[in-house]
Amino acid sequence: MPERFLSTASLHLAVLVTALVSLLFAMPASAAFDVVVLDAGHGDHDRGAAIGRVFEKHLALDTARRVEQLLRKAGLQVVMTRSGDQFVPLSGRSALGNRYRNAIFVSLHYNYNRSGSGSGVESYYYHEDSAPLAGYIQAYLVQNSGMRHRGVKHASFHVIRETTRNPAVLIECGFVSNRNERTLLMGGDLRNRIAEGIAQGIVAFRRAN
Ligand SMILES: [Zn+2]
Repeated sequence: MPERFLSTASLHLAVLVTALVSLLFAMPASAAFDVVVLDAGHGDHDRGAAIGRVFEKHLALDTARRVEQLLRKAGLQVVMTRSGDQFVPLSGRSALGNRYRNAIFVSLHYNYNRSGSGSGVESYYYHEDSAPLAGYIQAYLVQNSGMRHRGVKHASFHVIRETTRNPAVLIECGFVSNRNERTLLMGGDLRNRIAEGIAQGIVAFRRAN
């Protein structure tokens, strides 16, 4: 049909179809994944963000363990880059992200800013084909936790840059430096809702592919 005969409605439809088709082709090759590599940030002498006795490394490991349980219940295989308070170099983490053929890599962190005013959650990707996974996790995380949506962002963090074989994302699950958020994070309820959001985002991403 000549372009001038296209109505506004069919133009919109054409744009939508084009967008959907390009989204389909943009999906990572390893979309039908069975393995989730869960990376709890920091560990041992690397405490990550710390205020008083609240350390990012503890919050990240606790959250990763909760996500692990939920994903196992959903029938997925989970590999942890660390399961205790140990130091794992960044290269060791991304090496695990590249070890499996059908896998995704999800790194869990908690955030910090100097003024203490920052709050909410954000999801990062480096390689373009990891953006959909970050989008799914961010959406379910915000919905379940009720925390502020800070966005899906692009950044060159080692673990998501060097994990090249599989979709890889890094999730900042809340601010250790924010007094209100820190108080809530010290209770298990919010960490549970964060973990549920992340697990649901992963399962929904898998179902959609
Ligand atoms: Zn961190």
